Amino acid sequence: MPSFMEPFRIKAVEPIPFPNEEERRAALVGAGYNLFKVAARVVTIDLLTDSGTAAMSAEQWAAALAGDESYAGARSFERFESVVRELTGFPEVLPVHQGRAAERILLPRILRPGDISASNTHFDSTRASVESAGARALDLPVSTHGGTPAPFGGDIDVDALAGVLAGPDGKRVRCVVVTITNNANGGQPVSVRNVADARTLCDRHGIPLLLDASRFAENAYLITQRDPEYAEMTPREVARVVFDLADGCWASLKKDGLANIGGMIAVRDTELALRCREQLIAVEGFPTYGGLAGRDLAALAQGLCEVVEPDYLRYRAEMARWFGEQLELAGLPVLQPTGCHAVYVDAASLLDHIPPHRLPATAFANELYLVGGVRVTELGTLVFGRRDPGGGPDIPAPRELVRFALPRRVYTASHLEYVVDVAEEVRAKAGQLRGYQIVDQGGALRQFTAALKPEMTS
Ligand SMILES: *Cc1c(COP(=O)(O)O)cnc(C)c1O
Repeated sequence: MPSFMEPFRIKAVEPIPFPNEEERRAALVGAGYNLFKVAARVVTIDLLTDSGTAAMSAEQWAAALAGDESYAGARSFERFESVVRELTGFPEVLPVHQGRAAERILLPRILRPGDISASNTHFDSTRASVESAGARALDLPVSTHGGTPAPFGGDIDVDALAGVLAGPDGKRVRCVVVTITNNANGGQPVSVRNVADARTLCDRHGIPLLLDASRFAENAYLITQRDPEYAEMTPREVARVVFDLADGCWASLKKDGLANIGGMIAVRDTELALRCREQLIAVEGFPTYGGLAGRDLAALAQGLCEVVEPDYLRYRAEMARWFGEQLELAGLPVLQPTGCHAVYVDAASLLDHIPPHRLPATAFANELYLVGGVRVTELGTLVFGRRDPGGGPDIPAPRELVRFALPRRVYTASHLEYVVDVAEEVRAKAGQLRGYQIVDQGGALRQFTAALKPEMTS
């Protein structure tokens, strides 16, 4: 029995597809063995991402219906603005259509060619924005290899940051970005202490501290669970403590906005906001809608209130914890401790007969689909590996992970029990799985476009 209960009942339902084995195989072959290219209509349980996949509440749908579609000064914007101000304390609020639009607008107003942006980890779209401004994205995550699992594995390595700031490149560092939670690092939270330490360093060097706050509520909840100092505070209060330490933030509201589209920039600096608004008008739209419909802003305002509710966040974290436990009981190597938005499985230790350049994480992910129509994401050498300039095998990623992302309020415990059964079946035949070869590298982000083929001999 699961140790938690969904804190909602279901009002609108959507049937899920049950393709048979032959249909699944045909879909995977047709997709060049790349799950991003498999149609959703042949996926039974879709754990590809937690982005834009949330189920909206009745209150959100009601707010959406009442949304104000006026071009300028819509009521829906006023509500969105006041909710974001109250939540973050940042007076300047700009809506955008999704997270990367926020990054494209904000980061080039701060970074100049040759500058450095230092972070616990830049999300891939963040890195792209930093680099397109001609700057360098420097990742300084705390080391999580070996030893006991760290409660705040998402932290930035403060000593390394201090070292960079004091070193020859110190003057080039133009901002520090703390991504909460740290998706690339197993979805682990960042502690208040860590953000405060980063703040101190930023003050000493006169540079801004920015938050990529896409999962700010999940980060805040995990702080209440893992740091006794904040155990008595609500997630909303803890979120505010973290926002108060920063100069501004942006967020993909496709995550903790509990809606299917949206993003925001929120900052303290009026002059910076002014420059961002000019760019916002050029690329997104008038500053009171920023590429969104009034109904989207209305649903987001409501979503941002619901996402900090303790019952919701407790369920979210407990679901991930229980799901991770069940996968472990089924013999899968799960990254611990689990966070909120996903559970990560280490494919390298499960498929140790497949070398990294033969994509063990992809082999595991594809088999989950073949066995049970379950779709997950590979976060291994296909995504993070590099082509060897000398034409040899790909330079491996540091880890071969498979991410089971958890869409918000979409799947119930019984759906996840099914996923555990499928994963167990794959584990039972792990030794027989074969690796993959990349036959077409695709574009810059090859995980979305690459075509693969299974190896004939292992
Ligand atoms: C999703 C995400 C982004 C990019 O946002 P989009 O809405 O997908 O454009 C940026 N940072 C983090 C941490 C994210 O999770």
